[in-house]
Amino acid sequence: MKTVTRSTCCYCGVGCGVLIEAEHGRITGIAGDPDHPANFGRLCTKGRSLPLTAASTAGRALQPELRATREAKREPSDWSSALDHVAARFAEIVEQHGPDSVAFYISGQLLTEDYYVFNKLAKGLIRTNNIDTNSRLCMSSAVTAYKKAFGADGPPTCYEDLELARTVLFAGSNMPYAHPVLFRRLEDAKAKNPDIRWIVVDPRRTDVAALADLHLAIQPGTDVALFNGMLHHLIWEGMLERDFIDAHTHGFLDLKALVREYSPRMAAGICGIAEQDLIRAAEWFADSPATLSLYCMGLNQSSHGTDKNLSLINLHLATRQIGKPGAGPFSLTGQPNAMGGREVGGMATMLAAHRDIGNADDRAEVEAFWGVQGLSEKIGLPAVDMFDAIADGKIKAVWIACTNPVHSMPDIASVRKAMAKAEFVVVQEAFVETDTVPYADVLLPATTWGEKSGTVTNSERRISRVRAAVEAPGEARADWWIVAEVARRLEQRLMPRHENAHDVVASESKLFPYASPNEIFDEHRALTVGRDLDIGGLSYAVLEDEGPKQWPFVAGAARGDERRYTDGVFATDDGRARFHKTPYLPVAESTDARYPFRLVTGRLRDQWHGMSRTGRADALFAHAPEATVVMHRGDAARRGLADGDLVTIASRRGKMVLPLETSDDLRSGTLFAAMHWSGQYLNNGGVNEATIGAVDPYSAQPELKHAAVRIEVPDLP
Ligand code: SF4
Repeated sequence: MKTVTRSTCCYCGVGCGVLIEAEHGRITGIAGDPDHPANFGRLCTKGRSLPLTAASTAGRALQPELRATREAKREPSDWSSALDHVAARFAEIVEQHGPDSVAFYISGQLLTEDYYVFNKLAKGLIRTNNIDTNSRLCMSSAVTAYKKAFGADGPPTCYEDLELARTVLFAGSNMPYAHPVLFRRLEDAKAKNPDIRWIVVDPRRTDVAALADLHLAIQPGTDVALFNGMLHHLIWEGMLERDFIDAHTHGFLDLKALVREYSPRMAAGICGIAEQDLIRAAEWFADSPATLSLYCMGLNQSSHGTDKNLSLINLHLATRQIGKPGAGPFSLTGQPNAMGGREVGGMATMLAAHRDIGNADDRAEVEAFWGVQGLSEKIGLPAVDMFDAIADGKIKAVWIACTNPVHSMPDIASVRKAMAKAEFVVVQEAFVETDTVPYADVLLPATTWGEKSGTVTNSERRISRVRAAVEAPGEARADWWIVAEVARRLEQRLMPRHENAHDVVASESKLFPYASPNEIFDEHRALTVGRDLDIGGLSYAVLEDEGPKQWPFVAGAARGDERRYTDGVFATDDGRARFHKTPYLPVAESTDARYPFRLVTGRLRDQWHGMSRTGRADALFAHAPEATVVMHRGDAARRGLADGDLVTIASRRGKMVLPLETSDDLRSGTLFAAMHWSGQYLNNGGVNEATIGAVDPYSAQPELKHAAVRIEVPDLP
């Protein structure tokens, strides 16, 4: 019988609603959900191709596997043995070396319920905050900046603002590739009203830059100088909202003193753009009845990512382009559930429901709610530090779920070293052909899109249901189930109540009694009550009856809040937003005579992350069939290089060989390579052989967007 299941796309943070068609236990088709407020029935190429990626079980993890020693080959196992083994090894290591000797590295691809159980296992049971996620690589600078400026995480904006904005500033965001369905909404709005202005800040002439009214092709990494220069111009031209600044903010005078140095001429010189273009951008930004900034990895993936975010937020506060329809700083999340992970506190630097690890009251609230004591007050190790600690032997065991750090982390040579050094590695995955799986001592087969149930939160704070359309293949199990099963076993070891850990069942577990994702969601929502993201009024039943909802959604509310701070009251102690001084600082690794090129990394339209899913659909290679490195045509000509030539891109950390693609769409001295192709496709690990592990001092987000490299022409046999 043919069935149609309402669910959500598993790729980007747009969070499009989908209708999954299935027959005889197989996914046979997909359509956009016409009732979902993110996409109103639209899907992009990736979303439309989801059934192709689910067509076969080839390459799927179908059975638990484990090995007795690090040198041995993994052998098929059964769930009971695998779960017992993971629990026993984690317990041994914690008992011998302490809670901080283990770590969890999870993923913005997981559902909120999966995230919640992982977080509770690490922080509530083991009592380590060493749980971080690949969202650290994606949006932690945006989180940090929102908290610093507004007192709370989360965008103040909503998707409706895409249609209501009159000036749109795209900063480090190629939306036609990264958030295609949202970009269609912007295109529709501009087609209806050609007076809408688009400003694009990007070192490359991307698809969106090609359509812009003004493209600021800045030198990579100079965004802060640009935004400071724009603010300087607005201050001295008197184009600010002084009443708003006086009544609703702090810190403007300090910022004003700083940006005095950033004259438009000086700032434009740093950025390598025309002074008049900087001035035009500033005036369009301030003059507009509603200015919306859309930003993504170009701001976040930087050793100054927080300051890049804050310098843009400074502009919004100074011009009151916030808290009204069509206006505000809108961080677009890359992954489908980066937001949900933030909500449950599934990172090394936060606690559940936007609470802080360093705040004793916050810790006490979570302890009381979970019925545990002694939550660690020590901030956990964020991604880069976590793998460094594994390499140093300080972390002995790591559990990796639904992500492929041996491809996606910067400076992957150091990550490979860490994985080889770890005493015990658990990999929980749906797909076996990743660069990380070979390091697994235990492989736990997980369900994936189309087979699992729960919730995700998209970029506009909207929570949608994810529903299973078919049964999982083989022995694959839901992520939350796997974690809860190990957690119950560990609960017996670390909080002894039963004599035989093998006998424990959900109903006997104090901390992990869940029989369904619904029960986990109910616990999560109860923990949010009274917080800025309060979803006390939300439940699976409400989502079932009324469809996706934005947070906050308090008990008794008819709807969530579309926008935040519309009354000018922010989430800080005194209700005022904060300006922050943001001096321009250069990239972590400057170019020099030995490494004269700037390597910029990014996405392609039809691929996703390390291609573990999109690589399964041949149709998705039509847009870009192979990995290349893109070089300015003039730079190539000066070196006697032509399209298709194989070149080595070498940094101080590693090198990779790729075919050359020449272009006029990037600055001379800049190279671009897509992040997607990994060791599964290349004879090297891809772009992250070259990237650097330098991180932002506030957000710990690594500088994936810039590395100093040189080009070598390999000797061919
Ligand atoms: Fe999926 Fe994003 Fe495409 Fe929507 S825009 S269909 S969420 S990949």
